[in-house]
Amino acid sequence: MTAVAIDGPAGAGKSTAARAAAKRLGFLYVDTGAMYRAVGCHMRALGLTAAEEQRVEEALKGLEVSLRFSEEGQRVLVNGEDVTGSIRTPEASRAASDFSALPCVRRFLFDLQQDLARRSSVIMDGRDIGTVVLPWAQVKIFLTASPEERARRRCEEMRAKGEQADYGEILAEMIKRDYQDSHRAVAPLRPAPDAVLLDTTGLSLDEVIDRIVGLTKQKGGVTA
Ligand code: C5P
Repeated sequence: MTAVAIDGPAGAGKSTAARAAAKRLGFLYVDTGAMYRAVGCHMRALGLTAAEEQRVEEALKGLEVSLRFSEEGQRVLVNGEDVTGSIRTPEASRAASDFSALPCVRRFLFDLQQDLARRSSVIMDGRDIGTVVLPWAQVKIFLTASPEERARRRCEEMRAKGEQADYGEILAEMIKRDYQDSHRAVAPLRPAPDAVLLDTTGLSLDEVIDRIVGLTKQKGGVTA
């Protein structure tokens, strides 16, 4: 089994590159951010805030988050309901970042994430995969890009989908979320000591995919 851990801040291009690299390698692509989004949205829908840790912990007891994989990629289910499409909003990003700071939420998703990597070769992306979830991963990559580049890419993505995008707002929101993710007490966003740093500023998507596939072949002993 080979595990590739890809961490980095919001909008560094992790998911697009990781999904394509996993397809090339025949690995499962696991997007852990989607799991935090699903939990965050569920807690918000219950009217809870991240300040109510005990009530959140109680609510986790009645919650089932599961992933399904198909040719089209990963689907996220919350108590059997497919929420894949509804967790991609700015509110969901905020909810994910707020609730992911709680140790009970991280514990809740940890087993599920580890279990996936024990059963198949994976490329898993998130914030703490190389440091906490899969410290034994053969390949660890920390993907970054300047905040301006990340905000620009996110704007382009949204406009391509016909959505309105305000560059200044997106940049400010991204910087705030990165700060929150990097400064929390549990599993903060930071590169694992043995991670390869890959700055994607100025690189094309294909170049990033090639680097991920190349590193996996080199360090993960994959010959495919
Ligand atoms: O990657 P994505 O932007 O979907 O992640 C949403 C949020 O979920 C992040 O801002 C972060 O707070 C949280 N997250 C996390 N640990 C992970 C993946 C995501 O704390 N492994």
